[in-house]
Amino acid sequence: MAAGKFPEQFSRLHPGEMFSFLCHNRVSCFTLCCRELELALTPYDVLRLRLATGLNSAELHERYIIEELASEDTFPRFYLTMVDDGQASCVFVNDEGCSIYPHRPGACRTYPLGRGTTREQGQISEQFVLLREPHCKGFKEKTVQTPKSFMQSQELAPFNLFNDRLTVIIQHPKIQAGLRLSSAQLDLYKLALYDLDTFRAQLADNLIEPPLAVPDSVYEEDDTLLEFGLDFIEKLFFDR
Ligand code: SF4
Ligand code: SF4
Repeated sequence: MAAGKFPEQFSRLHPGEMFSFLCHNRVSCFTLCCRELELALTPYDVLRLRLATGLNSAELHERYIIEELASEDTFPRFYLTMVDDGQASCVFVNDEGCSIYPHRPGACRTYPLGRGTTREQGQISEQFVLLREPHCKGFKEKTVQTPKSFMQSQELAPFNLFNDRLTVIIQHPKIQAGLRLSSAQLDLYKLALYDLDTFRAQLADNLIEPPLAVPDSVYEEDDTLLEFGLDFIEKLFFDR
């Protein structure tokens, strides 16, 4: 978005620029930001939700995830289900706060910051914005943060790492040049990135033939399996 055309509540921030903000369970707005929201889930969010809930990927999709593919979209989007309680509350919010706090999604950790990335010559550069919504009282706190320190405090490093890998696929030059994927390719995209338990089982049973060697560690480690899934999709879709 061009400078000067930002919506009023957004402001740009440099990575080291300071802002006053703290969220804690004594703010009057506690958990307000867990209601009336559309919470898009990335593959790494889904990986962590499996750990939080103890459900496998298929059960997680069935109980908590809504899939959408709008006609103008190339890739499907996945959203966390909200409760029909008149406030569209997150399924995981309760009076004490977030019931899956150690595994909460990246968007929940990042708020009220926004992080965008651009890639030039293989290097990722980050841009930040701050969203000052009137209901969020955390800005009245005296704790001074920077985007960098805030991201550290929210343990965002693995989320950003995996999300940046996903961006390479979603914003691939071939996609931007108009490449559209078949429904079989979209099924593989969902399988390899959003349905890790089924993906692992199908790899073990040789039901899919990946275009690259499968490391043994994918059968033991979820992070390695997701890394492999991202490599798999990138090579399958674009390396021809
Ligand atoms: S996952 Fe947790 S932090 Fe995120 S919206 Fe739901 S309750 Fe709030
Ligand atoms: S609205 Fe802001 S201060 Fe209030 S709970 Fe959410 S992030 Fe924290």
